[in-house]
Amino acid sequence: YTGKSSTQLLTEKLKKLSVRDFQAVPVIVKEQSTVYDAIVTIFLEDVGTLFVVDESGCLSGVLSRKDLLRASIGQQDLNSLPVNIIMTRMPNITVCKKDDLILDVAKNLLEKQIDSVPVVKKIEKGYEVTGRITKTMITRAFVSLTNDDH
Ligand code: ADP
Repeated sequence: YTGKSSTQLLTEKLKKLSVRDFQAVPVIVKEQSTVYDAIVTIFLEDVGTLFVVDESGCLSGVLSRKDLLRASIGQQDLNSLPVNIIMTRMPNITVCKKDDLILDVAKNLLEKQIDSVPVVKKIEKGYEVTGRITKTMITRAFVSLTNDDH
């Protein structure tokens, strides 16, 4: 008998949940892509958020569903509007690393009122996008706490 309370045990389990174990594959578009292409990609890839990279492959922006909706209700030609005009851009992007705790990412999602963050790795000119964590992965991590193998 360890003498630990159930709250302590739950906290210990929570602190073992890391980004590495729950991340999904990121969906990435280039800065020159049009808003039209981004909307098609969101449907084809069945995601809510796209990450944008520059010509050197570094993270440069984030596109959410509402960013794309907002652009769509304007009087603009979506086929000639590049995504870099409407995206949220660096350095205002909240990111995480593969060794971060799911709990800390969840706090960040709440605090920043966003649905997802890119998992990044530092490279020479900026950040390479290697994964994504969304509210769905946070939900999956939450449910995993009821499995005995965690
Ligand atoms: P939606 O806009 O579809 O509700 P979000 O809540 O994720 O989706 O996005 C809200 C705003 O925050 C959008 O303008 C989006 O570009 C921006 N955003 C989304 N994710 C991030 C992030 N990881 N870092 C910074 N800004 C983000």
